[in-house]
Amino acid sequence: MTAAVVCEVCGLPKEICVCEELSREQAALRVRIDTRRYGKAVTVVEGFTDDANVDALAKELKRYVAAGGTVKEGHVELQGDHRQKVVGFLRNKGYTVEERA
Ligand SMILES: [Zn+2]
Repeated sequence: MTAAVVCEVCGLPKEICVCEELSREQAALRVRIDTRRYGKAVTVVEGFTDDANVDALAKELKRYVAAGGTVKEGHVELQGDHRQKVVGFLRNKGYTVEERA
């Protein structure tokens, strides 16, 4: 008989464990606009936890807003002002998001 895979955090079987969703909810991401050289706006998404897959998320975001972007020091930068789309996208994924001016 094989042992069920159990969550290390809550001790429940992985199928019913919600720790991952909870940690997403608790980690509030911040979405803000930064202005770069020549007055170009970039949308900055920051506040990811260490275990967040920022690279994968950045790829999805770039595709979603159809803009270029990079991952720098654990935060995502997207070219242009995409606040509304980015906030909607992240909230759909279950993240708590704070909008900053
Ligand atoms: Zn758990």
